Amino acid sequence: MNLDPALNADLHCHSVVSDGTLTPEALAQRAKAAGVQLWALTDHDEIGGQQRAIAAARAVGLPYLTGTEISVTFAGRVVHIVGLGFDPTATEIVEGLRATRGGRGPRAREMAAGLAAVGIPGAFEGALTYVGNPDLISRTHFARFLVDAGHCADVPEVFRRFLTEGKPGFVPHKWASLKDAVGWITRAGGIAVIAHPGRYDFTPTEEYALITEFIAHGGRGIEVVTGSHTPAEFVEYADTALEFGLLASRGSDFHSPDESRIDLGTLPPLAARLTPVWAELADRIHR
Ligand code: AMP
Ligand code: MN
Ligand code: MN
Ligand code: MN
Repeated sequence: MNLDPALNADLHCHSVVSDGTLTPEALAQRAKAAGVQLWALTDHDEIGGQQRAIAAARAVGLPYLTGTEISVTFAGRVVHIVGLGFDPTATEIVEGLRATRGGRGPRAREMAAGLAAVGIPGAFEGALTYVGNPDLISRTHFARFLVDAGHCADVPEVFRRFLTEGKPGFVPHKWASLKDAVGWITRAGGIAVIAHPGRYDFTPTEEYALITEFIAHGGRGIEVVTGSHTPAEFVEYADTALEFGLLASRGSDFHSPDESRIDLGTLPPLAARLTPVWAELADRIHR
């Protein structure tokens, strides 16, 4: 395996098993066609697509790491933790993710009630028609329904007007703890990675608390080059990775050809000064 930081690795994307619009098979083909050299499918709170992704990657000759993106509540805010290279049959992570997903149904009904109160009826049933996995109804599915029903021009507008804190369709929710999410991944033989750290609007003190608690629980990686970061943040979080001795990860966070700004495998490479997360996962790669 090429353990070079410049490897075209894409270790963050979503399929119909969570809130993406492509199947694991279509993603494998798209990644291969884009020149991706190492791929991971990281569905939100779900690993139900992992066997399909492993098989599809093998069929197109694309090295593959198992993946997921766990929703975590940290200091009253939502943080995402990516897991890479874990055993997807390990009981603890399977059950932990099942429990994390369990709150989504009731949350979605409350979101729909909030939307109905501002004159948008039927949003639960509407969102469900966009769902590929009934266990994984997300805000993205509501957003697609609201766009197609003519309430907003595009998905970002739905989030701005209806689905973010303080807006009518937003429901505060308690996700997994940081300790549990990192523990499930690590004890299943994988590496936990802080997803898109630049997206959280944390103060430097809050970010320091997140990173140090994450490390204390056994977390080892951080996304540096992601579709959610600006070029300035590629540099900022490369510095952060080195400062805290974290392994660096890279991923597009691709969801859909129609919605995602950044396609699979198209971001700049990791800086040569970083140690990539795949340097420590060579024996976990499926080929
Ligand atoms: P949920 O896990 O149900 O809270 O949904 C979170 C998902 O919503 C994220 O993974 C993104 O795919 C999407 N999302 C969050 N914020 C935005 C935004 N401002 N614009 C577009 N999509 C967003
Ligand atoms: Mn998503
Ligand atoms: Mn995320
Ligand atoms: Mn994601």
